[in-house]
Formats: sequence, structure tokens, C-alpha cells
Amino acid sequence: MAKTLVYVAHDNLNRNKGALAGARPETHAIVFVESQRVLNGARWNRQRLFFLLSAARHFAEELKDEGFEVTYLKDKDTASGIQSISKNYEEVISVEPSSYRLSKSLSDIGVRFIPNDFFLTPRALFEQWSKSQKSLKMENFYRWQRQRLGILISNGEPVGGRWNYDDENREPPPKSEYRWPTYPSHERDSIDEEVISELSNLNLSGALDEAVWGTSRKAALAQLKSFLKKSFKDFGPFEDAMTVKSWSLHHSLLSPYLNNGLLTPDEVIREALKEFDKGNIPLASCEGFIRQIIGWREYINGLYWIFGENYRESNFLESKNPLLPLFENSQSTKMKCVSETISGVEKRGWVHHIPRLMILSNLAALCDVSPVELLVWMRNNFIDAADWVMVPNVIGMSMHADGGRMSTKPYIAGGAYISRMSDYCGDCAYNPKTRIEDDSCPFTTLYWHYLHRNRDRFKKNHRMFQQLNGMKKLKDIDETIKRGDFLIEGLLAGEI
Ligand code: SF4
Repeated sequence: MAKTLVYVAHDNLNRNKGALAGARPETHAIVFVESQRVLNGARWNRQRLFFLLSAARHFAEELKDEGFEVTYLKDKDTASGIQSISKNYEEVISVEPSSYRLSKSLSDIGVRFIPNDFFLTPRALFEQWSKSQKSLKMENFYRWQRQRLGILISNGEPVGGRWNYDDENREPPPKSEYRWPTYPSHERDSIDEEVISELSNLNLSGALDEAVWGTSRKAALAQLKSFLKKSFKDFGPFEDAMTVKSWSLHHSLLSPYLNNGLLTPDEVIREALKEFDKGNIPLASCEGFIRQIIGWREYINGLYWIFGENYRESNFLESKNPLLPLFENSQSTKMKCVSETISGVEKRGWVHHIPRLMILSNLAALCDVSPVELLVWMRNNFIDAADWVMVPNVIGMSMHADGGRMSTKPYIAGGAYISRMSDYCGDCAYNPKTRIEDDSCPFTTLYWHYLHRNRDRFKKNHRMFQQLNGMKKLKDIDETIKRGDFLIEGLLAGEI
């Protein structure tokens, strides 16, 4: 009898989940497809493409070692690759894909989907939760998750008596001498080298000098172990801090592995709670980390599916500017915070959530950049940038392009926030405290410019009253707007 063919996407690299959970070499064969449409369809960051391709090729080898018949194809697109061999098999199955595009192309060729268990919250369950809510607040979802999954819950109440330790988790980087943790540098093998050599022929951004991302389950487990041992304890307090002294601070660096399946959220949570139960981890750090995995991650994926395919085209603020040239060259700007952040993306395809939100996206929002332009850049450049991650994060949270469906107010800030949460400003050509001088911080000037040009759109938003009132009291608003126009023009021309 013909075998069942399992299509394994580049984000389903796990033997115990989805379509592979019940697969056996006697009854199932495996296919991977490297789509040339995807490879050549964007200017990807080298780290991102290297990680995705090499991890899939390593996983294919592991499945071969287990006795599976594995076909690893390069074809013009995924559907064509599957169709080129599917007639030899009983049927083709796959995990429910993680993007609208792949869902459509696979269902068009008759692939049968197995429920996606790479998340803790099935899509239908999230939809059910969303329908029971007046607004889609992450905090409410997170509390519901804690109760539903029984995580950090004792007798129906949150362990420690509080759901949220955010107020303890917003420390700036320490001013005095401080030892930041180190992270494993992953040794590259022949599969990695083969991928690196193939990538040298493509038009990509970024560099592969730093071996910060491992490409196997073993490497992903090493990263998890390293985080739990060296960083988990102090993860919480410095979660939002930014510093020139450490690119990773106490962050786990687990999102790429969670997003391609080398690690799963259930095992990460289990290991983290084991560490917490030993009494080594402060509750604020544990709660902050758990919130990222069972709260934010699941919430974003749930929103991606309930908001629908056209959500990515939302543009509530009618922003039309192209992406600023500095996004493609970290050395082209004198803004220290921006150049440090873009340089991190070029080197590693990763910076943590605050530089993503409060530096890169904030700058794009303040400069009236088209949300979809930022979305494409983020998708191409971040190591963990699955479609389901980036669409709600960029369109809803960062750019407020959905008019408040996800976040009731825009995440924008002037230089004062960046100055408080980082050590960038001391070394910068600009001054975060002023707005109309020649050396005034562009973030500070443009913050008021943003509020002024969008004042009518926000006038009924009660969460924006205070900020709009602040703007009305500025005596130098005309000069601020004039300087803001000058800055946007200069930033668009690549001159600032
Ligand atoms: Fe960034 Fe402004 Fe601070 Fe310079 S002064 S580092 S541009 S926030």
C-alpha cells in the first residue's frame, strides 16, 4: 500500500508535533520544499535565511537517520514541489500552515491539514475567547490563559497575589559596572557551510560573521539550558532596557527556535517552571517570561487568524511615505539609538522587543511611513519574523494602522523614553531634551509632529487626551512642526 506523504514546512521542525507526531517510516514518507519564489522574492537578511534553510536540512537528515524516506526538493514554489511527487503516495498531509498564503496554496492542491499544535491555544478556542470579550486586551487573555493552563496559579489565584509584575520589570540598564551574561556561539557543520555557500549567490542583507543561531534541536536545547542557567534570574528587571554593552541582555533568544518548531512552548514553560520551583528565580522574572510565551506569543497568533487576510493592508493614519534609507544602512545616520539597533539587525537578524517597537517602529510611525513598507522590511530581516508574528505586531501594535482594533493607543515616544531606558543618548549627536534646536533629537521633535498631524483622528480617543493636551500647551508648536517637516524630508533623503 502506498505511503502517506507528510509535507514539513520550515516552521514545523518537530518530530512530536502536528503531522509528524503519528508518522512511522513504514507508513509515511516526508517531503521538504525550498521554494525559489520565496528565496528570490525578497532581500532577506542572511542570518534569517541561513537559519531557516539550515535548520530544515538538519531536521531532514535526522528524519532520514530514523529510517524515513525523505525527499528534499528545490522547486519554483511549494505547491509545485509537492505535486511533482504526490502521485506516488496515498495522500498528502501537513500541519495547518502558519500563514494565509501557504494555507491557500496547499489547500488548492488537496493537502489534508492536521491541527496546528505548535501553539498552546487552538485557533478556534482563541476565536471563542475573543467573542466573549468587549475588547481584545492582552492582559485579559493572559489571565485567562494562566487559569486555563494552571500556570503560576494556586487555589484559583495568581501565585504571589498579583497577575502582573511589569512595574518591577522596567529597569534601565545599570549605570555602574555590571556583568551581562554570555551566550553560546554555535559551531557550524558541513550542512551549515553548504547553506552559507549557496547564499553567497543571492542578493541579501546583513552578515553571517556571528554564529549566534544554532540550526539543530541539540543547539536549541543548549540555548534553552543556557538561558535558564545564566539569564532567567535577572530576565525581568532588564526586560525593556537597551545598552551598548550587551546586545542580548538577559533575553532568552528562544523565539527563532519556538517559531520554527525546534522548541515547543509546552517544553519551554515546563523547564522554566522547574527552575522556578527550585526557588532560584524571582517571581517577577518568572512571570515576565511566562507572559511572553503563554500570553503575547499566543495572543499575537490568535489575532492574526481572527483579523483575517486583508488586515495587513490596514492604513488608518493614511501613511504613505516610503521606508527610510537608514533601515538599509546602519552607518548612514548619526542617531545613535537607530544606528545601534539597525547594526544589531544586520549582524544577527535580532534585537529585542523594545528596540523593535520603540526605536524602529516608533521612528517609522513618527515619519509617516507606510505600514506595509515597514511590515515587509521586518518580515525580511528578523530571524523570528513569521507572518503571524509580524502582521499584528506591525500593523496593529506598532503603526496603529488598524485604528485601534488591537491596541487602543499608538506606541509612540520622544527621545525622553529612549534616554531613560538606554545608554545611547550620551554618545549621540542629538539632544533628547529639546525639540526646536539644530541638534534636537528627531524622536522628540517628531513625537509632537505626529500628534499634531493626527490630532483630529485621535480627538475621540480618551487614552490620547493627555498627550493632545500637552501638545496644545506647547508655545513653540509652529517651530516644532517646521523642524519636524525638515526632519522627515531629511530622513527620507537619507541625510539624517
Ligand atoms: Fe536616539 Fe535621540 Fe537619544 Fe540620539 S538623542 S540616541 S536620536 S533618542
